[in-house]
Amino acid sequence: MNPFDGSNPREALEQVAALLRCSPTSAEVASYLDKHDQLRHLREDFLVPKIADLPPSDLTLVDGSAECIYLVGNSLGLQPKKARKYLEEELDKWAKTGVHGHTEGSRPWAWAENNIEELMAKVVGAKAEEVALMNGLTVNLHLLMLSFYKPTAARHKILLEHKAFPSDHYAVESQIRLRGFDPQQSMLLVSPRQGEHTLRTEDILETIEKEGDAVAVVMLSGVQYYTGQLFDMAAIAEAGHRKGCYVGFDCAHAAGNVELKLHDWGVDFACWCSYKYLNSGAGGLAGAFIHEKHRDDIRPANRGELYAMLSYILRV
Ligand SMILES: *Cc1c(COP(=O)(O)O)cnc(C)c1O
Repeated sequence: MNPFDGSNPREALEQVAALLRCSPTSAEVASYLDKHDQLRHLREDFLVPKIADLPPSDLTLVDGSAECIYLVGNSLGLQPKKARKYLEEELDKWAKTGVHGHTEGSRPWAWAENNIEELMAKVVGAKAEEVALMNGLTVNLHLLMLSFYKPTAARHKILLEHKAFPSDHYAVESQIRLRGFDPQQSMLLVSPRQGEHTLRTEDILETIEKEGDAVAVVMLSGVQYYTGQLFDMAAIAEAGHRKGCYVGFDCAHAAGNVELKLHDWGVDFACWCSYKYLNSGAGGLAGAFIHEKHRDDIRPANRGELYAMLSYILRV
């Protein structure tokens, strides 16, 4: 039985538990799922820290030479074994050829992002021309907002989660101030219902329906960093567009974690990073997406950055 075919995670757990006649949270279920995981072999491609090498903890009873159980790929993914080899190749090239490394070799640095755009486009469900790899996530979010957030007296709000990732919250707040508006009036925060931890899709859609005429940009995450909630990005994009809003997603916790179809869903813009579920390592390039439908109506607010990024879309 392959528990991952077609069923949702809860059903898969329940099916396996029924098969093994134990609780869905028992270790037997976890071992069974590990054994039948079709991507199991990929674990061999990564370096998992040994417990003894981690900062000291109270866990004196565990065997320090064992690999730790690593559940923080949502903060920094594990090191791929090949990373060292690739870095050494580039260091060698730098040592041997200096400035020529910009333009020579199999991965010229000047066009470094060209090596990964196609691959990254697949990860987020976009066309390669819609994707750019550059900067860090928050910088990209600012650049995208500079182009998409053009508030007017009637339509000046940005809709976001009440508990958005702190830097996203601050980025939105500063964009509002930058345009001379008041965050108190212009930040429209959506919260879960009392006693609930996740946002109901129906509540998000209803807020957009009710307040959308005053909303310039709907800016939510793809997967909520704190609760792990996967948002219905297609439905949210559709609802936002019906009310004339731009709809963008921060896919930091979605890229490499869940299936994304940014192009097909008609999402206007998105940003993400590569060091969480995409295992690029701290300081890895972040991603930005602008849907090709905007190639004529969205102009780069900051020409220097966006020139490199979107010469195709913006025809600059
Ligand atoms: C991880 C994360 C960030 C981090 O942004 P940096 O610019 O790389 O520091 C921002 N937003 C969200 C939602 C994140 O999960």
